[in-house]
Amino acid sequence: MRKKIVAGNWKMNMDYNEGLSLFSEVVNMVKDEITGTQTAVICSPFIHLHSLAQLAKGYDKVAIGAQNAHQAESGAYTGEISAKMVKSTGAEFVILGHSERRQYFGETNELLAAKTDTALKNGLKPIFCIGETLDERETEVHFDVIKKQLVEGVFHLSAEQFAQVVLAYEPVWAIGTGKTATAAQAQEVHAFIRNEIANQYNQQVADDTTILYGGSCNPKNAQELFEQGDIDGGLIGGASLKSRDFLDIVK
Ligand code: PGA
Repeated sequence: MRKKIVAGNWKMNMDYNEGLSLFSEVVNMVKDEITGTQTAVICSPFIHLHSLAQLAKGYDKVAIGAQNAHQAESGAYTGEISAKMVKSTGAEFVILGHSERRQYFGETNELLAAKTDTALKNGLKPIFCIGETLDERETEVHFDVIKKQLVEGVFHLSAEQFAQVVLAYEPVWAIGTGKTATAAQAQEVHAFIRNEIANQYNQQVADDTTILYGGSCNPKNAQELFEQGDIDGGLIGGASLKSRDFLDIVK
């Protein structure tokens, strides 16, 4: 049975103390709501990771993730953070390929394939983001774009490695815009992604893969989105910064 995940992506928000308070609030609120195969993941800035991982220790349904990690194991990369460093904080996940990283930091599918390899090698589970821009959707090349992101980013992995990966479909036009994909639009793409996984690996691998939706997900639209057969939870930006909203999405 595949895991259901609601992951918060704090992005570049929350100073150290603000982050600790928000996390404590969130954990207290969600701890009794998460059951069975469900997990809540908080992807914080690097500075919070170790403290949050310590606070999360008593809660086996709450995990911590980073928002990026470098593709090299270590070395002269001033200002960067390696996957091994992230892992050593107690974090379990790492977001890779977020559209903001692709857009503002020039991250390509090829680079992301290398980051995925390094993350896996160091025991981190990638939350690998894919999704089309508005222009790509309007010109109806979104399925091609998503397929290319999968093929070049993660389909080089063995089935065993791929089993560690969580995918997140995030249409770029829906991120931070208040404009959510409709449940039908999101489901259509999620089913497409699952089918591509079945073609690349097999149906079992596809059925076991957690595929999250991200992009203006909020307490109002979460239920309808998460009810879709191929949507296994969400990657939540803005709404993860408000403990009440995050709780309502988890619920
Ligand atoms: P949003 O961000 O929920 O604020 O649209 C989602 C994301 O970027 O992961």
